[in-house]
Amino acid sequence: MSKKILVLPGDGIGQEVTDAAMQILKFTIKKFNLNFSINTLDVGGTAYEKTGSPIPHEVLQAAKEADAILFGAVGAPQWDNLSWDDRPENALLTLRKELNLFANLRPAFLFNELSEASPIKEKIIEGLDILIVRELTGGIYFGEPRGVIEDETPNYAFNTMIYNEDEIRRIAKIAFESAQKRSGRLCSVEKANVLEVSKFWRSIVTEMSAEYPDVELSHQLADNTAMQLVLNPNQFDVIVASNLFGDILSDIAATLTGSIGMLPSASLDGSLKGMYEPCHGSAPDIANQDIANPLAMIGSLSMALKYSLDEEVVSNKIDAAIKTFIQKGFRTKDIATDEKYLKTSEVAGKIIKIIEDE
Ligand code: NAD
Repeated sequence: MSKKILVLPGDGIGQEVTDAAMQILKFTIKKFNLNFSINTLDVGGTAYEKTGSPIPHEVLQAAKEADAILFGAVGAPQWDNLSWDDRPENALLTLRKELNLFANLRPAFLFNELSEASPIKEKIIEGLDILIVRELTGGIYFGEPRGVIEDETPNYAFNTMIYNEDEIRRIAKIAFESAQKRSGRLCSVEKANVLEVSKFWRSIVTEMSAEYPDVELSHQLADNTAMQLVLNPNQFDVIVASNLFGDILSDIAATLTGSIGMLPSASLDGSLKGMYEPCHGSAPDIANQDIANPLAMIGSLSMALKYSLDEEVVSNKIDAAIKTFIQKGFRTKDIATDEKYLKTSEVAGKIIKIIEDE
């Protein structure tokens, strides 16, 4: 049966990097005889301009039916003052919530050839290869009650950090299983020294570790992890964290690698369905200049092939081609050390040529 891929390029460089990934997807479909159907729709500000909604009903419906969604990025300053319902970013949160994409997998890795692009010393960063598993649909970003109280003196605002046992178990399961497939080390991050919800998180994860004797579990306080990621990032293999801590730590990890334009991500619902997107946003500052790095989006396509589309061999070929691309010295502007770099629109052609030559 044909697998359904929904492509949502979005806004700004989302469209440019998705174009590059689509060239590679179309090439692999032809070369490896893949049985996929592709549906491309507008989302974010682009959809808002055409339909009045950043996430039209048709998009949500197609997303629910898709095996894999490739999402570029959304947002730009011209839509920043719209109401939340109309803002491009609402499309992203709605998709995550409606599709129950509770597990965000964010690899952070460094090609040693690019260690100069990292703000961290080479001897510390060399060989970096971390996976951050972030809980994505719960915790303080969604917890109720929440609000701003303006009719009392002093005014105040509040949010609720809340996790139930099931939410912790399902994200921890993905983290333990990911560690089993990698080098078998899992670090669970929270603030058990001050937060009840963190203490509860730690007790559930500790209890579950009995089911995974092949995984070495450690616990760390989030503020320490932020520091350790900079001081000694290679101590980590898989990190699991709540929505808030995972958000902050994955951005630190992304920065270690030198360019956010290199890093893919997957958001999964616990079955094989998922949404795949680069870690970066729509980068309005460089949109329409043909200088964005599309490797994060191409890596996201590769993750979709691996996790949702049952094509691990093709996924490995794309990953290998990205590695060769860097080893051969090809660079985009964000990772170039001189003025010699490829345009966004030239990258897919090079990757395709590398796969063909193998
Ligand atoms: P951003 O990730 O878009 O850009 C941050 C910086 O990184 C910019 O200097 C940008 O030029 C650079 N950059 C990002 N991706 C790059 C790439 N592929 N190649 C080269 N350089 C790249 O974050 P921001 O500037 O904070 O946000 C811009 C807009 O994107 C906002 O509207 C924000 O809401 C939105 N956003 C969307 C998503 C998403 O759709 N998933 C995520 C983050 C931000």
